[in-house]
Amino acid sequence: LAEKLQETFKKLKGKGKINEKDLKEALREVRLALLEADVNYKVVKDFIAKIKERAVGQEVMESLTPGQQVIKIVNEEMTNLMGGTQSKIIFSSKPPTVIMMTGLQGAGKTTTSGKLGGLLAKQGKNPLLVACDVYRPAAIDQLHVVGESLNIPVYSMGNHHSPVDIAKAGVEYAKANQKDVVIIDTAGRLHIDEELMDELKNIKSSVQPTEILLIVDAMTGQDAVTVAESFNEQLGLDGVVLTKLDGDTRGGAALSVRAVTGKPIKFVGMGEKLTDLEPFYPDRMASRILGMGDILSLIEKAQSNFDEKKAMELEKRLRTQEFTFEDFLEQLQQVKNMGPIGDILGMVPGMNNKKLKGLEFDDNQLVQAEAIINSMTKIERNNPSIINASRRKRIAAGSGTKVQDVNKLIKNFEQSRKLMKQFTNMEKGSKKGRFKF
Ligand code: GDP
Ligand code: MG
Repeated sequence: LAEKLQETFKKLKGKGKINEKDLKEALREVRLALLEADVNYKVVKDFIAKIKERAVGQEVMESLTPGQQVIKIVNEEMTNLMGGTQSKIIFSSKPPTVIMMTGLQGAGKTTTSGKLGGLLAKQGKNPLLVACDVYRPAAIDQLHVVGESLNIPVYSMGNHHSPVDIAKAGVEYAKANQKDVVIIDTAGRLHIDEELMDELKNIKSSVQPTEILLIVDAMTGQDAVTVAESFNEQLGLDGVVLTKLDGDTRGGAALSVRAVTGKPIKFVGMGEKLTDLEPFYPDRMASRILGMGDILSLIEKAQSNFDEKKAMELEKRLRTQEFTFEDFLEQLQQVKNMGPIGDILGMVPGMNNKKLKGLEFDDNQLVQAEAIINSMTKIERNNPSIINASRRKRIAAGSGTKVQDVNKLIKNFEQSRKLMKQFTNMEKGSKKGRFKF
């Protein structure tokens, strides 16, 4: 989706003035891209209508940069479509806050229960996981494994009790043991059926959850939206967690869930690891879908993994293009704590672009890169332009690599710098203060 839209927008950006025909064509392409991304057709229709209304109005015609203005409108409307602002978990004023996790089998309930517990524990909460999936013995074990690896207690009663009784007992246990958040992992089914809904309704009425979250698999596209609609009608939802967004290249479910159900997406699952859960930010998601990358999430990820001051410095250097090998080396060391480099690069604006594929490194290359930079002198690191052929030879020998490897690293580095420059320029063109750190 991002690539398609980027093409369309590139055409628009270059235009000084936009006539109705340009606009019509651009909107047609946006419409097709959205439909192809499996966005609900009614949502697409309303969305295009809204953009058209704003775009043909004064907003665009009187603007100096009509192309950019259209992009801005698309971005804003896309953000609104996904709820506008971030929706957080509501905590009960009388703890414990009870969060009930619901959804179909395989959607990611158990994994997300753990991830959410981990996230809340990091925020200073004292969560308890409760195992209410009594149909598969493995499900209880799975939650225990998850709890253990996160160091979060799990309450279970085996599979000879009803989920309602376990849920109730779990909440009582939390009260008695100063747990302020109870996360109830429930059973799913392959399809929605009455039995499942009745069970969930019974749990709901017996423990009166503060939040009922629906976990849906983003990769199922429109099915995820249909499931959300149905759960919301029958059970009443407070929010949705969209899992496996790491595998969803189209973003269709993210765009339609809120519009169709009226319920916000509160979190997104970005991978199988227990740290791969992020709050959902509609504005960032819109930028991501529009192919601008997600520099804010990147910076946030960086900040939670290495120290804030250093991240700010890095960010400042990136902006002023003073970024040197010295900085690069320091970052490499920290980046190792941040997970696979591909995840991180994917969030940098423009990195999804095919033309930049040459920039991709894998984690082994990071180790090599570190060795190469270590063999540079301080002066070389700070002034990469002086690294001539004989210096390259020396560096290769010192790091146990080939001259080609050194060449490649320097080339990648220069390309990255160019990319950052592009980004800085792009940003100057967009609304002031748009990407604030
Ligand atoms: P449940 O049946 O709803 O409890 O689903 P599980 O929590 O057991 O998850 C089913 C599978 O989906 C597991 O293999 C998880 O590792 C995987 N999974 C869950 N969330 C994510 C995610 O955000 N990204 C990816 N890639 N896999 C996920
Ligand atoms: Mg499960």
